[in-house]
Amino acid sequence: MKGARVVPPLQRGVGGIGRGCILEVEKEKQSLSSETGDRKSVVKSMISSSLVVGGGAAGFFAAVTAAEAGASVVLLERGREVLAKVRISGGGRCNVTNACFEPKQLVRHYPRGGRELLGPFHHFQSRDTMAWFRKRGVDLKIESDGRVFPVSDQSQTIIDALRRAARKANVQVQTGVALAEINRDADGFCAKQGDALWRGERLLLATGSGAQGYVWARQFGHSIVPPVPSLFTFAISDPRLNGLSGIAVENAELTLLEQDKSQSGPLLVTHWGLSGPAVLKLSAWGARELSAGGYKATLQVNWLGLPSEDVLRRLSEMRTVAARNSLGARMAFPLPQRLWERLLGAAGVGEGRRWADLTAVESGRLAGELTAGRFAISGKGAFKEEFVTAGGVSLNEVNFSTMESRLCPGLHFAGEILDIDGVTGGFNFQSAWTTGWLAGRALAKGR
Ligand SMILES: Cc1cc2nc3c(=O)[nH]c(=O)nc-3n(C[C@H](O)[C@H](O)[C@H](O)COP(=O)(O)OP(=O)(O)OC[C@H]3O[C@@H](n4cnc5c(N)ncnc54)[C@H](O)[C@@H]3O)c2cc1C
Repeated sequence: MKGARVVPPLQRGVGGIGRGCILEVEKEKQSLSSETGDRKSVVKSMISSSLVVGGGAAGFFAAVTAAEAGASVVLLERGREVLAKVRISGGGRCNVTNACFEPKQLVRHYPRGGRELLGPFHHFQSRDTMAWFRKRGVDLKIESDGRVFPVSDQSQTIIDALRRAARKANVQVQTGVALAEINRDADGFCAKQGDALWRGERLLLATGSGAQGYVWARQFGHSIVPPVPSLFTFAISDPRLNGLSGIAVENAELTLLEQDKSQSGPLLVTHWGLSGPAVLKLSAWGARELSAGGYKATLQVNWLGLPSEDVLRRLSEMRTVAARNSLGARMAFPLPQRLWERLLGAAGVGEGRRWADLTAVESGRLAGELTAGRFAISGKGAFKEEFVTAGGVSLNEVNFSTMESRLCPGLHFAGEILDIDGVTGGFNFQSAWTTGWLAGRALAKGR
């Protein structure tokens, strides 16, 4: 080939490019008006065994895994930098995974994709992620809720480790590549941007929730489950919440009544409505139905996370043990005082009323407010710490041993481009590392 430059030395194998080498070809291209014989531009081609499109967590991890296993890998990223989401993740600290080490437990954190991830987690799970980063010099810590962060509390530590590994394994990373097209032919895949051309025997699409990735997946025969947002807060305008912004309870139970879906955990009142882990989890499990309903739904709030019988029993006890005290002065439950007062008001029970005078009807109303208050969700709020997209490449079209397409041989997928999403806590990165690792291994094996 004219002007061919091989980095490192080319080893053409039977049936294609050798695994550990990338062939760079520069050849002069005839201009369109080639009759004149003008030489107008230089076409640059790169030939590798594997092309990875998308330099996020999944694509980058796959590229490193494949290159460490001996593949020649070119990674093409549209943005100016790779791993941009890793940088902003976890409030700049990068919640890299979750210390949930039992695959059967781990899959329970995925509203979509849990079933498919069970097999993959037996090959590469949170424990492996931690070992991977530790082996590459990253000290990690497990917080009390199971979330795993670098000890530095800097996402840059994770980025540095990944980039060092990529350099060492000789992954060719190219940023600012706005690909115009990707095509498949007898030799594999061919990606183009202007005059530049990249060829790979195998292609990994790891473009996250980027629309172009879905276009390519469709082009290769895949169906896309319509993307909808997941992990968001609930916009609620209700007098019971007015002025309570910043108040939190430890263990609320929330139910989306129309969907009969519940989640428990910490709950936070915000200026706009409700947030906190319980809301985010529920938003994920209800993402699709909430989207279909235009983000209008009825939320039932149990502020105590206790069954109503237990609450009624406690209220009854209070009538004896706190008979002379006012309800406002002596709370029956460990709730923020202002919330307690607000709920008393909502139940139509005066704060100054003595416990001894509380009637059975009033007890019933108060227990109702405490355990089954209904709130109208009027929309979806933003959650800046983390949000993900539910939907993407349909999972039954992918082989979860290799992340290879069942419809287009040689094409692989990893990360958020798939119809997989997890709740908060490091589970989204874990699915990116796991699917990236499997895809990377398969790219290297070339099968
Ligand atoms: C603010 C925020 C914080 C988060 N924090 C956490 C957290 O702490 N823990 C956690 O587990 N999850 C977190 N997540 C979710 C997590 O970031 C994603 O699940 C994860 O990044 C998915 O990885 P991915 O590689 O599949 O996709 P992405 O990280 O989105 O990467 C896709 C890459 O492909 C590139 N791309 C797209 N289209 C093209 C194209 N046409 N050509 C070339 N390149 C293209 C993109 O530029 C991007 O670099 C957070 C998300 C957000 C938004």
